[in-house]
Amino acid sequence: MAHSPYFRIPELLMPAGNLHKVQVAYQFGADAVYCGVPRYSLRVRENEFRLHNLREAVELARHYNKKIYFTVNAIPRNSKIPGFDRYLDVMAELKPDALIMADPGLIYITRERHPNLPVHISVQTNTMNYAAVKFWQSIGAKRVILSREVTIAEVREIRERVPDMELEVFVHGSICIAHSGRCFMSNYFGNRDANQGACNNACRDEYKVFVANKRQNPELMELIETDEGTFLMNSKDLRAIEFLKDLADAGVDSIKVEGRTKNDYYVGMVARAYRRALDNLSAGKPFDRGLLAELDKVASRGYFSGFLTRGMEDRVPEPEREFQNIEDGSSRVQTRRYAGCVRYYDEQTGMIYFDVKTKIKVGDYVEVYRPDRFEPQILRICEIRRNQVLYDSISGGMGEVAVPVNEPLPQNSFLALIPSVESLSFVPEVAGR
Ligand code: SF4
Repeated sequence: MAHSPYFRIPELLMPAGNLHKVQVAYQFGADAVYCGVPRYSLRVRENEFRLHNLREAVELARHYNKKIYFTVNAIPRNSKIPGFDRYLDVMAELKPDALIMADPGLIYITRERHPNLPVHISVQTNTMNYAAVKFWQSIGAKRVILSREVTIAEVREIRERVPDMELEVFVHGSICIAHSGRCFMSNYFGNRDANQGACNNACRDEYKVFVANKRQNPELMELIETDEGTFLMNSKDLRAIEFLKDLADAGVDSIKVEGRTKNDYYVGMVARAYRRALDNLSAGKPFDRGLLAELDKVASRGYFSGFLTRGMEDRVPEPEREFQNIEDGSSRVQTRRYAGCVRYYDEQTGMIYFDVKTKIKVGDYVEVYRPDRFEPQILRICEIRRNQVLYDSISGGMGEVAVPVNEPLPQNSFLALIPSVESLSFVPEVAGR
């Protein structure tokens, strides 16, 4: 495979909303993780980080010899400026590899107080062009996370014109229907400010839309996409795994996955697929289309490649040229159902222990994704125990259960229910007793 002069293998940067997800991200192949405290980091829900446990996140990063970035990318009001010093000093003392920032005021304070602390410019700044990248470079930023609205061709031109600046690009996850950081829908409909990290996903909702033409037809007419109504603003999710070679040729230093509020299974599965794609790219192998199916094993709103592939439509499959999901505002399970994450294997009993996440029953097959190998294993569930009581079936949310296996499985292996064994293209290797 011929490469451009800008070619490089980008860093894989994963999101984490708690310490467990930090560990899962690293174990499944992330080079770096981003996380942050709710007050300044644009994620106030499903975010367990506080100043006290950020230290443990840094310790995990150092343990795995990986990088960690703290998100400090809210656009705060006056009331949040006093007190920022204290947060900043604690974060700086932990020595993260960078802070991800958007607000010029917070960046100014950070550069004054901690000039050696690297700053990455957040996607919230809507950096769309090389002049803006040069501006951020002039104030000492180390990296710019480009706007989600740029195309790969534009990324490449930015790289050509600013060769000595790190560039990061979102490649996977939910995207806004508005320019990132410029949306007031959540504020308007739910009094929750997306730019303070409290988005209520108003764009995903189902709307009833009426129009009237005053001159010719003054009666209100309902605009309908389905019998239910319309999801006129509900974007599909970004998935650009197929285009990593193009991004590497454009000189991208870091590819980023959205989703600090997503579950551990999402973090592990997405990291695993992108790690594999990057390793294949590094080895000069062509893109493995089987990785698209791997990403169908996590819930999504349907996938498309976003703005990145504008101008490359001939390479985008027909269904992915449509950006809107008109059927459903929520993420939906695709080809697997998350069943659990192995807490530990007990040699005495020969069983794995995990919190059950979906209904499983004796006779079901689950796929097992281990942190230490890419190829999944198949496990047939032949027994389910909870508090020493045998169950034929058990529902998600019932707490810790035990299932026998005939070989040890490492901690943080994920189990995913296969809805129909017939859907498998190979005869299962049965790992359960
Ligand atoms: S409401 Fe939708 S477009 Fe607006 S910030 Fe939230 S996710 Fe983005």
